[in-house]
Parts: sequence; structure tokens; C-alpha cells
Amino acid sequence: MDAQRALEVLLQLTAELTSDRPLEEFLKTVTDATLNLLAADHASIRLLDTSRTALLSGARSGAGETEPPADFKRGEGVGGWVVEQGQPARIDDVEFDSRWVSVDASYKVCSLMAEPLWSSGEVIGVLSVTSSRRAAFREEEQLLLRLLANCSAPPIERARLRRLAMFDDITMAFNHRYLTPRLVEEMERASRSSGDVSLLYMDLDHFKMVNDIHGHAVGDGVLRMFADRVRKAVRRVDVLVRRGGEEFVLIMPQTGATQAHATGARIQQTLNAEPFEIDMARLRQTVSIGVATWDKRETPDQLENRADEAMYEAKRLGRNRVVVATPKI
Ligand code: GH3
Ligand code: MG
Ligand code: MG
Repeated sequence: MDAQRALEVLLQLTAELTSDRPLEEFLKTVTDATLNLLAADHASIRLLDTSRTALLSGARSGAGETEPPADFKRGEGVGGWVVEQGQPARIDDVEFDSRWVSVDASYKVCSLMAEPLWSSGEVIGVLSVTSSRRAAFREEEQLLLRLLANCSAPPIERARLRRLAMFDDITMAFNHRYLTPRLVEEMERASRSSGDVSLLYMDLDHFKMVNDIHGHAVGDGVLRMFADRVRKAVRRVDVLVRRGGEEFVLIMPQTGATQAHATGARIQQTLNAEPFEIDMARLRQTVSIGVATWDKRETPDQLENRADEAMYEAKRLGRNRVVVATPKI
């Protein structure tokens, strides 16, 4: 790429990074520009999660970008090393580098460069590029990658903080602060359209044992996978909220008790059908679910309490079941 064109790409990137766009869009803009500027096959950003133990895939551009991404632990793989050491890496042939951890991918990786993403004196993630060619990157390219990393990291961190205010970082479910305001909105909508609103209160069964046996990081993985399975089992209009710990709420607009119960049963089926596979462990995780449908008179608190009580009833009855709350007369 000639110098004029490279400057144009850089100028456009820095302009886009000054806007208040969602984190995912930011990340993709950066990996797209990186791929555009460097003769690489693949560009990726991985960010540390809030516990600063897992390095999660944020965005990818180029070869294999639609394949399921691999997550790493801090310190694991070249990216993990870069984050741990706060040092860049440039490798001519990954086969001869002990830090390299190969993952399933359709594209070949031979050479690689990675730069830490620094924001407020801390490493928040890593920007990497790979090529199927040997020694594809020189010092000049490394400096360009560093420039991209340095100008992207602070805006990425700002977007991450903005998102954290609304979403829980581990599960990407809405934050607990969002529950009551969103429920109020749905109740108002239901009043206007004389429709229904239902709530599912979900609490993972014996979750403390997962942490005790497998450790907190695996526990976080279970929470993340649970939220993913729930989202796959429900409609796009349903709102998943992490109430705290291992407790989640699903707000179901336009939904009566029968359909809400069926959704609860479907969530349980998807959990019972297949265990979670995390770090070589296969974990069977069940959930207890309480369902309550708004009676059109009660306050949000009263509706939440009924769903919560139904969930506790499901626990008392032996867990891994759905209990529908009886309407209060
Ligand atoms: P029950 O079937 O009665 O619900 O049992 P339980 O073990 O799930 O319930 P309990 O409330 O005793 O334990 C919840 C556990 O959830 C305790 C805590 O360590 C864990 N936990 C809460 N938040 C997180 C988190 O963000 N990550 C991880 N890994 N664990 C969490
Ligand atoms: Mg609990
Ligand atoms: Mg529990």
C-alpha cells in the first residue's frame, strides 16, 4: 500500500474512534483497518475480561472471521504472553516458537505479530495479525501495528466502560440496574396493548460446587455459556438480565403463563441435552425456574417477588424444574 493510501486509512480510523459507537463496532473498525494496512491474512483483537484472567475474542477480520473464535487464558498462547508481559511479539515461523498454541482454524498461520493494547497504564488486550507466509512482517510493519494499537486502546477502553454500565461483562446479559426500569416499560406497553408480560426467575442449581470443584474461572465460563444457551432458546424480544451471582431474569413481552412455562422448559431441555465443556471438564448444570405473569394490577416489585417465590418453590421441590406462580387474589 502506498503512503498516501495508508495515511487515508489511518485518518479515517482515528476519526471513527472519536465517535461514541458501540464497543463491537469499534473493535471491528480497528481489525478492518489493520488488515487494510498490513499485508496480513487475519487481524484480531482480544480483550481481558473484568476478572483479568480470560482473554476473550473481541473482533476478527480476514480469513476465518466467521468461524467460532478461540478464547485464551491470560499468559496462554502468544497473545496471552503479550498481555502478561506487556511486550510486543514478532514471530517468523510459529512452529519454532514455544509460546504458540495452535487452535482449530481453516486458515494457516506461519508468521505473526502482536502488540499489547495499553490504556491508563494497564494492558487491556492484544491486537494481532497473522500470515500464512513465513517472515511476512518486518520492523516497519511492527511499528505500524504499534501505532494502530496505541491510538485504538483508549477509545476501546472508553467504549468498554460505557457498555459495562448497561451490560454485565461476563455474560453480556443486561445489568441488574436495568431490570426494574425495563420491566416498568414492558408493563406500560402491555397496558396500552392489553397484552401480557411474563417473568422467568432463574437460579443455577448447586453452582457453588462448580466454583469449589473447578475454580472461579470455570464458574465464569459456565455463567457465560448458560447465558448463550438461554439467548438461543428464546426470542430476540426477550430481555435477559443478570440479577447478580448465578441468578438471571428473563423479561418476556407479549407472553402469557403457558408460553412462559414452555420457554422455561425449553431452557431446561437445552441444559439437560448437553453438558458444558470448559477446560477439559464436562459439566452438567441445571437451573431452577420460577414463572410469573403480570396480573395487570401488581407493582413491578410484587411481580418480581412472585417469580422469585416460584423459583424458591422449584428449589424446594428438588431443583431442575419450572414452577408457575399462582396469581395473588
Ligand atoms: P442452589 O441450588 O441452592 O441455588 O445452590 P447454589 O450453590 O447455586 O447457591 P449459593 O447461593 O449458595 O451459591 C451461589 C454461588 O455463586 C456462590 C458464589 O461463589 C457464586 N458466584 C456468584 N457470582 C459469581 C461469579 O460472577 N462468578 C463465579 N464463578 N461464581 C459466582
Ligand atoms: Mg442464588
Ligand atoms: Mg444457585
